[in-house]
Amino acid sequence: MRAISRRRPGPTGEEPGGGREARQHLGRAAWAMMRPYRRRVGLALVAVAGALATTLAGPALVEYLINQGLVDHHSMRVVDIAGGAYLAVAAASFALTRWQTSLLSGTGELVLNDLRKRVFGHLLAQPMSFYDSESSGQLLSRMTADIDTLESLVQSGIGTFVMSVGLFFTSVVVLIAISPPLFVATAACLVPIVAASARYRTASTKAYRAVRLRIGDTVSSLDEGLAGVRVIQAFRRERAVGEDFERRNADQLEAELHTVRLASVFFPKVEGTGVLATAAILLVGGAFVHLHLTSIGAVAAYVLYVGNLFNSIQSLSQLFDLLQSSGAALSTVATLLDTHPTMTDPDDPLPLPGSGPLQLDDVHFAYDGERPVVTAVGLRVHPGEHLVLVGPTGAGKSTLAKLVGRLYDPSSGTIRFGGVDLRSASIAGLRQRIVVVPQEGFLFRGSVLDNVRIARPGAREEEVHRAVEALGLSDRFSELPDGLLTEVGERGSHLSAGERQLVSLVRAALTDPAVLVMDEATSSVDPGTGRWVETALAHLTAGRTTITVAHRLTIAERADRVALIDGGRLVEVGAHDELVSAGGPYAELFAAWQGTPEPAG
Ligand code: ATP
Repeated sequence: MRAISRRRPGPTGEEPGGGREARQHLGRAAWAMMRPYRRRVGLALVAVAGALATTLAGPALVEYLINQGLVDHHSMRVVDIAGGAYLAVAAASFALTRWQTSLLSGTGELVLNDLRKRVFGHLLAQPMSFYDSESSGQLLSRMTADIDTLESLVQSGIGTFVMSVGLFFTSVVVLIAISPPLFVATAACLVPIVAASARYRTASTKAYRAVRLRIGDTVSSLDEGLAGVRVIQAFRRERAVGEDFERRNADQLEAELHTVRLASVFFPKVEGTGVLATAAILLVGGAFVHLHLTSIGAVAAYVLYVGNLFNSIQSLSQLFDLLQSSGAALSTVATLLDTHPTMTDPDDPLPLPGSGPLQLDDVHFAYDGERPVVTAVGLRVHPGEHLVLVGPTGAGKSTLAKLVGRLYDPSSGTIRFGGVDLRSASIAGLRQRIVVVPQEGFLFRGSVLDNVRIARPGAREEEVHRAVEALGLSDRFSELPDGLLTEVGERGSHLSAGERQLVSLVRAALTDPAVLVMDEATSSVDPGTGRWVETALAHLTAGRTTITVAHRLTIAERADRVALIDGGRLVEVGAHDELVSAGGPYAELFAAWQGTPEPAG
């Protein structure tokens, strides 16, 4: 078994490497994908067997025609019959080859269609921690470049591949059956080809994997550049970002050129050896005819069979590039599909109650499993209470909020709602009870209405209107050109940041959760829209358990209680006024925020 030549970190970056194990893994992955279409595959194999039989019959008819029609009997009738049969067999071979190609390629297209759906569904099912370690460009390249490579194999190579493999093995058997000594001469020519193929395979497997990685890097750079184009232009980083892209593009070119160099040495070798083999057969075969060891017809048939053998090697060699890159593509896609989501529903999920306290007990968390970001946090949030998390930047406030929304699971400790551990509930049930409203509301292309409805796809239009009304936003939304039917553009680009926040608040209202977890929503909004956001928030949070990550302390003054987080620990918790009069760390932070120096003593 070959050693794994290169590994890179990350769940999808784990390459199965070369060797038998990797091939078995690939074989299993390919078979699992084809299973639903096994009837079509079975039919295609019948067509392949028929096409092979007709291809092999051709040279046998030539032998019969030469020996029986020309050399032994000079019979025109035999020539006519054998010639006619040759034509019929060639026509049948053509029809069967077409049939098997269309069956196999059609099946391949169906498999790829399934694969695209599976990969995207799989990515959507991954928890946040998966996206912390994966670059979106690499993932995009799985969906585009890798699946496109498989597409090329399916469209142009799969039928030829199956046919050539069949032709190779059957030709070897027939050649041995016709004349073992002549086969020895043929095999002598095959040895260097087999050795060169083995070397080419090792080198090109590595080279094509490198190409796949480089393509992923280029797509990553492109993806990041396009997503951050506003920042790039604002800070005049076009040149630096362009140079970074050029570097990655040049690396990709180098990797691609390496595969071209390998191919340009290997293919002419195969071609040249085929010519050598034919010359050897003619020489040795001619000598055998003189010595009456074989017939002229048999030598002619032999040359045709050797032609078939080398044609199949030639076709397989030409497909080698495609097979290598498809194998590498399939292996990265299969490895991605092998990563199981770490956050799954329990076997018997418990329902979360409609209301209840939120209880955190000795919660610890580290993103990378090593550096603690949340340490020993214990906290009880009462039903209907508004708790505000405050603390210096990087203290772990947002992380704690994400743990409560179960975007991540604690490394140890428990978070319960209404007495039920969040990990014992189904994820769908949890997302109905606890809703996380991010600071930047992400909108999809479509209308405002469509975007609100992603919170509850079955919601009727009146229900959306009621949610808008409940937040006191009817007048604000009617100012939009087409009201709720206004198209928001890609990522909501036709709306202002504040309007996007209003849409995410209506989404939360439509879900009507028991607990709302939010990043302070008013920070990036103009004062006019800010007032609408304040109104909507007042309606949304009234009587609802709410945890807000605050960046400005005005919000803390209005909350029921404040929890001060520092260095991932809960330092102080209590009502704003109590904490200020206690004169502890929160009082210091508040005083600093107000810009008032602390009284001496
Ligand atoms: P801020 O007020 O600036 O938003 P915060 O208190 O909300 O800060 P967090 O966002 O919770 O802080 O981050 C806490 C720590 O965890 C920081 O050191 C941050 O660098 C780290 N961190 C945050 N997200 C990740 C992540 N996805 N992977 C690894 N580390 C992370």
